[in-house]
Amino acid sequence: MATNTGMTDETGPAAAAGVAPAGQARARRKVFIKSYGCQMNVYDSHRMADTLAPEGYVETHSPADADLVVLNTCHIREKAAEKVYSEIGRMRQLKDSAAGAGRRMVVAVAGCVAQAEGEEILRRAAPVDLVVGPQSYHRLPEMLRRVAAGEKVVDTEFPIESKFDVLAAPTGAATRARGVTAFVTVQEGCDKFCTFCVVPYTRGAEASRPAARIVAEAERLADAGVRELTLIGQNVNAYHGTGPDGREWTLARLMYRLSEIPGIARLRYTTSHPRDVTDDLVEAHRDLPALMPQLHLPVQSGADRVLAAMNRRHTRADYLSVISRLRAARPDLALSSDFIVGFPGESEADFRDTVALVDEVGYASAFSFKYSPRPGTPAADMADQVPEPVKEERLAVLQAAIERSRRAFNLRCLGSTVDVLFEKPGRHPGQLVGRSPYLQPVQVLAPATRIGDFASVTITEIAPNSLFGRLAEQQAAAPAARPAVMALGA
Ligand code: SAM
Ligand code: SF4
Repeated sequence: MATNTGMTDETGPAAAAGVAPAGQARARRKVFIKSYGCQMNVYDSHRMADTLAPEGYVETHSPADADLVVLNTCHIREKAAEKVYSEIGRMRQLKDSAAGAGRRMVVAVAGCVAQAEGEEILRRAAPVDLVVGPQSYHRLPEMLRRVAAGEKVVDTEFPIESKFDVLAAPTGAATRARGVTAFVTVQEGCDKFCTFCVVPYTRGAEASRPAARIVAEAERLADAGVRELTLIGQNVNAYHGTGPDGREWTLARLMYRLSEIPGIARLRYTTSHPRDVTDDLVEAHRDLPALMPQLHLPVQSGADRVLAAMNRRHTRADYLSVISRLRAARPDLALSSDFIVGFPGESEADFRDTVALVDEVGYASAFSFKYSPRPGTPAADMADQVPEPVKEERLAVLQAAIERSRRAFNLRCLGSTVDVLFEKPGRHPGQLVGRSPYLQPVQVLAPATRIGDFASVTITEIAPNSLFGRLAEQQAAAPAARPAVMALGA
């Protein structure tokens, strides 16, 4: 099962945003935005679209007829960064065809690759007109005017003004088009400096948005029909924004306030660090009904030696103790994690500790990655880099353990009745797909009019990427979502 913490490539319109306001005199131009990597990039892509909408840009699914292509990039692993250069190669052809048809296509590189490589992108990739780091998206309209005047523009500053104060809010129509769940960035950047990670360099120091602004954004989303909010940040549970009372608010305090907004029925947050799981956050998992029983809590490794070399600043025992506190508060909590295999110096015994941790915790899902040396991070220069074939082998073993764990978790849900928030049409005609409280996608036969509704759904079948269920209220009459129930092995 994938969680919404996954690293995905999402192509615009992530929203069908971008309808220029009524009476807007500007010519309509088309923007194609492609998001790589984490949900922070998905959120940023939406906000870029919102900021470009008053400039007359509407989103398109097709880069071929775009006047502006924005590649919102990810630098977390080498493969992710390299993908961008191959995509730019494809954009060169489209740009040439547009020029042949007498039309100019502007190519912009945004996100963490832009931040990390800056001017180098212009040297390496001629079709690129604009390079913009994650903290400068609010300046896009002005940068595009400079590009139109013939300049090549690079902006990878960390400006004094916060982009969040300047970025345009989405229109109600844009929000509705994006669906009934939404991300809200509450915190950005990271001060933890894990030795493998580029985030502190590309996203900068940790900073929290003021609570009142987050509440205002959540109220706008709720008014447009959003029912579930996922609060996001590179280190979200380190949130410490100023509250309207002038005091510093924790993430838990913020979530209590957000749960009071009419229409907001569900809250989630990601990505958390084990060191920042405070007592009030644990208590919120016990006491706040809107907070879903699901948590992405990356551990990276199950071996203390490796955790120390990663500068994670927690041990395996610390991590397990955080989980015990959380499970004491919320016994049905569905946990997920990120793992890195083949970190420099990781021995076979260290790796076995990681696999054993998966078995011990019983994750509902998890992401696992081969260690990828990132230029400028301490681990890239460490001795004892693990050979690629060993990383591959360990990844396969770990993924098999994660899959066993995921399956066991899902099997426990079989036959149970859970609340599902229907989000969109499902895989087959007549089906809708929604999420359970544990973030599992659930396919159900239900009319499209129920998108945005909650329903009690009985889980009837477990498949590799989703669960299948039937509306509990129609249980006697309704057929199963798929004709055959899969055989469920152990
Ligand atoms: N803040 C989160 C945390 O503390 O775990 C992680 C954010 S990072 C964007 C997402 C995941 O990418 C990490 O949890 C880690 O597993 C993976 N990752 C980061 N750097 C990596 C690297 N150099 N090689 C492989 N995986 C990496
Ligand atoms: Fe990267 Fe997360 Fe470590 Fe921060 S806490 S450095 S974002 S892995």
